[in-house]
Amino acid sequence: MTVLVLGGTAEARALASALVAKGVPVVSSLAGRVAEPKLPEGDVRVGGFGGPTGLAAWLTEHGAKSIVDATHPFAERIGASAVEGARSAGVPLLRVQRPGWQAGPGDRWHWVDSLADAAAALPALGRRVFLTSGRQGVAAFRELSQLWFLARFVDAPEEPLPPNFEVLLARGPYDVDSEAELMRAHDVDVLVTKDSGGAMTSAKLAAARGLGLPVVVVRRPRRPAADTVDTVEAAVEWVLAR
Ligand code: NAP
Repeated sequence: MTVLVLGGTAEARALASALVAKGVPVVSSLAGRVAEPKLPEGDVRVGGFGGPTGLAAWLTEHGAKSIVDATHPFAERIGASAVEGARSAGVPLLRVQRPGWQAGPGDRWHWVDSLADAAAALPALGRRVFLTSGRQGVAAFRELSQLWFLARFVDAPEEPLPPNFEVLLARGPYDVDSEAELMRAHDVDVLVTKDSGGAMTSAKLAAARGLGLPVVVVRRPRRPAADTVDTVEAAVEWVLAR
């Protein structure tokens, strides 16, 4: 009867809590990237499965009834692995994916397809960058020695960064006033973000709008097609229906 929830997001934690509350046996899976992750309720396993084959083997061994991919919209490899692994194990899969962010009046957003394209766009947009696109992709910005970066991460990057990077370690949620104050205090003139979606980290966008700053927004990667819902409530219903 076990449900496997591929996690690492607020939605995955909320889903695990809701399923535990309904008495559904749930195992949440984390990649193990974050040193001190916020742990979901219920059972937790940590670390990669070894690709789709390893994931399929895990599903079969544990007699999993269903699998919910509640990973981050930018977690490309596990998203593909979930589709392939579930198919070969014959286990139904649902993806929970929060809607992307939408620009509103007053926003000065520049959409790009990749972190490399974000780096290429930056010199024309500003000099002092608030970089919030994550530790794993920071290498794309290393060569921009003419710019200054305030780079916010959950955990410090493994490789030291060049001297034009100031690292800020923090974890959301954030509020608009403190995001605006942070940007003002560091004379930030451009923001870089992935289109992560959700409320946990959206305050920076409202703060940038209020300050009239341009924002470079990285589009989501395409993940293989899967049945998808955009709320935790819909995912709970889907699990219970099985
Ligand atoms: P990724 O590139 O798609 O995954 C790389 C490998 O890490 C996968 O092939 C898989 O290894 C393992 N993995 C990833 N998520 C896993 C999970 N939930 N449980 C078990 N193994 C997992 O993923 P990523 O972008 O590095 O993200 C890693 C985790 O951080 C994800 O769980 C995601 O939800 C969370 N996260 C990511 C971002 C982001 O911007 N990418 C932001 C916030 C949170 P095997 O092939 O060996 O199975």
